[in-house]
Amino acid sequence: MVDTVREGGCGCGHVRYRVVGEPIFVNNCHCRLCQQQTGSTSVVNAFFEGERITLLQGELKDHAVTAGSGGRHLICRCAKCGSALWSIYPRLGRLGAGVRVGTLDDPGAFRPDAVIFTESKMPWVTLPEGIPAFETVYNQFELLPPERVARLEALIERRKAGEG
Ligand SMILES: [Zn+2]
Ligand SMILES: [Zn+2]
Repeated sequence: MVDTVREGGCGCGHVRYRVVGEPIFVNNCHCRLCQQQTGSTSVVNAFFEGERITLLQGELKDHAVTAGSGGRHLICRCAKCGSALWSIYPRLGRLGAGVRVGTLDDPGAFRPDAVIFTESKMPWVTLPEGIPAFETVYNQFELLPPERVARLEALIERRKAGEG
Protein backbone atom coordinates (compact mmCIF):
# COMPACT_ATOMS: atom_id res chain seq x y z
CA MET A 1 0.00 0.00 0.00
CA VAL A 2 1.32 3.45 -0.91
CA ASP A 3 1.29 5.99 1.91
CA THR A 4 -1.05 8.94 1.42
CA VAL A 5 0.78 12.24 1.03
CA ARG A 6 -0.93 15.26 2.53
CA GLU A 7 0.05 18.92 2.58
CA GLY A 8 -0.66 21.80 4.86
CA GLY A 9 0.46 25.29 5.72
CA CYS A 10 0.13 28.37 7.88
CA GLY A 11 -2.43 31.14 7.64
CA CYS A 12 -0.30 33.53 5.53
CA GLY A 13 1.04 31.02 2.97
CA HIS A 14 4.72 31.43 3.95
CA VAL A 15 5.06 27.93 5.42
CA ARG A 16 4.07 24.80 3.50
CA TYR A 17 4.72 21.25 4.63
CA ARG A 18 4.09 17.68 3.59
CA VAL A 19 3.22 14.73 5.79
CA VAL A 20 3.38 11.11 4.60
CA GLY A 21 1.14 8.29 5.79
CA GLU A 22 -1.18 7.95 8.76
CA PRO A 23 -0.46 9.38 12.24
CA ILE A 24 0.60 7.22 15.21
CA PHE A 25 -2.16 8.86 17.25
CA VAL A 26 -4.45 11.88 17.15
CA ASN A 27 -5.52 13.76 20.29
CA ASN A 28 -8.19 16.39 20.68
CA CYS A 29 -6.90 18.29 23.72
CA HIS A 30 -9.12 20.56 25.82
CA CYS A 31 -6.45 21.48 28.40
CA ARG A 32 -6.28 25.10 29.59
CA LEU A 33 -2.91 25.64 27.97
CA CYS A 34 -4.15 24.57 24.54
CA GLN A 35 -7.09 26.90 25.07
CA GLN A 36 -4.84 29.80 26.07
CA GLN A 37 -2.31 29.21 23.29
CA THR A 38 -5.01 29.16 20.62
CA GLY A 39 -7.85 31.17 22.13
CA SER A 40 -10.11 28.30 21.10
CA THR A 41 -11.99 25.34 22.60
CA SER A 42 -9.26 22.80 22.01
CA VAL A 43 -6.50 21.62 19.71
CA VAL A 44 -6.29 18.57 17.44
CA ASN A 45 -2.76 17.18 17.19
CA ALA A 46 -1.80 14.30 14.88
CA PHE A 47 1.46 12.72 16.01
CA PHE A 48 3.94 11.47 13.38
CA GLU A 49 7.53 10.31 13.18
CA GLY A 50 9.66 13.37 12.35
CA GLU A 51 10.84 11.72 9.10
CA ARG A 52 7.28 11.76 7.78
CA ILE A 53 7.09 15.57 7.98
CA THR A 54 8.90 17.73 5.42
CA LEU A 55 9.05 21.50 5.48
CA LEU A 56 8.51 22.43 1.82
CA GLN A 57 8.91 26.18 2.14
CA GLY A 58 9.10 28.99 4.67
CA GLU A 59 10.76 29.49 8.00
CA LEU A 60 9.64 28.28 11.42
CA LYS A 61 10.16 29.91 14.80
CA ASP A 62 10.18 27.70 17.92
CA HIS A 63 8.32 28.84 21.03
CA ALA A 64 8.98 27.00 24.32
CA VAL A 65 5.79 26.56 26.38
CA THR A 66 4.38 24.26 29.06
CA ALA A 67 2.20 21.30 27.98
CA GLY A 68 -1.03 20.19 29.69
CA SER A 69 0.87 17.21 31.09
CA GLY A 70 3.26 19.62 32.86
CA GLY A 71 6.38 19.14 30.69
CA ARG A 72 7.98 21.73 28.45
CA HIS A 73 7.30 21.52 24.78
CA LEU A 74 8.13 23.51 21.67
CA ILE A 75 5.47 24.99 19.41
CA CYS A 76 6.87 25.51 15.90
CA ARG A 77 5.17 28.52 14.34
CA CYS A 78 5.34 30.34 11.03
CA ALA A 79 8.07 32.97 11.44
CA LYS A 80 5.89 35.48 9.59
CA CYS A 81 2.27 35.04 10.74
CA GLY A 82 2.75 33.00 13.93
CA SER A 83 0.39 30.14 13.00
CA ALA A 84 1.28 27.04 15.00
CA LEU A 85 2.17 24.18 12.63
CA TRP A 86 3.35 21.46 15.02
CA SER A 87 4.66 20.74 18.50
CA ILE A 88 7.72 18.86 19.71
CA TYR A 89 7.60 17.07 23.06
CA PRO A 90 10.46 16.16 25.43
CA ARG A 91 9.50 12.45 25.47
CA LEU A 92 10.63 12.04 21.86
CA GLY A 93 12.51 15.22 20.99
CA ARG A 94 12.73 15.83 17.28
CA LEU A 95 12.06 12.19 16.47
CA GLY A 96 8.36 13.01 16.38
CA ALA A 97 5.97 15.93 16.15
CA GLY A 98 2.30 16.63 16.79
CA VAL A 99 0.93 18.33 13.68
CA ARG A 100 -1.90 20.84 14.26
CA VAL A 101 -4.59 19.17 12.20
CA GLY A 102 -6.27 22.49 11.45
CA THR A 103 -3.25 23.48 9.31
CA LEU A 104 -3.74 20.57 6.88
CA ASP A 105 -5.25 21.44 3.51
CA ASP A 106 -7.81 18.77 4.39
CA PRO A 107 -8.32 19.30 8.13
CA GLY A 108 -10.92 16.52 8.22
CA ALA A 109 -8.35 13.92 7.16
CA PHE A 110 -7.65 12.60 10.66
CA ARG A 111 -10.21 11.65 13.27
CA PRO A 112 -9.06 11.86 16.92
CA ASP A 113 -8.25 8.59 18.72
CA ALA A 114 -8.99 10.29 22.03
CA VAL A 115 -10.44 13.45 23.53
CA ILE A 116 -8.25 14.49 26.45
CA PHE A 117 -8.40 16.96 29.36
CA THR A 118 -12.20 17.02 29.27
CA GLU A 119 -11.97 18.27 32.88
CA SER A 120 -11.34 21.75 31.45
CA LYS A 121 -13.51 21.62 28.32
CA MET A 122 -15.80 24.58 27.81
CA PRO A 123 -19.18 23.66 29.31
CA TRP A 124 -21.15 24.04 26.05
CA VAL A 125 -18.81 21.75 24.09
CA THR A 126 -20.43 18.37 23.34
CA LEU A 127 -18.04 15.44 23.23
CA PRO A 128 -18.10 13.44 19.98
CA GLU A 129 -19.80 10.06 20.01
CA GLY A 130 -17.63 7.02 19.46
CA ILE A 131 -14.31 8.65 20.46
CA PRO A 132 -12.93 7.74 23.90
CA ALA A 133 -12.79 10.76 26.22
CA PHE A 134 -10.53 11.19 29.25
CA GLU A 135 -10.53 13.72 32.09
CA THR A 136 -6.78 14.22 31.68
CA VAL A 137 -4.38 11.87 29.85
CA TYR A 138 -4.68 8.19 28.84
CA ASN A 139 -2.49 5.17 28.32
CA GLN A 140 -1.65 5.05 24.63
CA PHE A 141 -0.24 1.55 24.93
CA GLU A 142 -3.71 0.30 25.97
CA LEU A 143 -5.79 2.33 23.53
CA LEU A 144 -3.91 2.19 20.24
CA PRO A 145 -3.83 -0.79 17.85
CA PRO A 146 -0.61 -2.89 18.04
CA GLU A 147 0.97 -1.60 14.82
CA ARG A 148 0.74 1.98 16.06
CA VAL A 149 2.01 1.04 19.53
CA ALA A 150 4.98 -0.55 17.73
CA ARG A 151 5.71 2.71 15.89
CA LEU A 152 5.57 4.65 19.17
CA GLU A 153 7.79 2.11 20.94
CA ALA A 154 10.32 2.29 18.11
CA LEU A 155 10.58 6.06 18.62
CA ILE A 156 10.91 5.68 22.40
CA GLU A 157 13.74 3.17 21.86
CA ARG A 158 15.54 5.50 19.48
CA ARG A 159 15.17 8.35 21.98
CA LYS A 160 16.63 6.12 24.74
CA ALA A 161 19.53 5.38 22.42
CA GLY A 162 20.27 9.10 22.35
CA GLU A 163 18.58 10.22 19.13
CA GLY A 164 16.42 13.31 18.71
ZN1 LIG B 1 2.45 32.20 7.97
ZN1 LIG C 1 -3.62 20.56 25.59
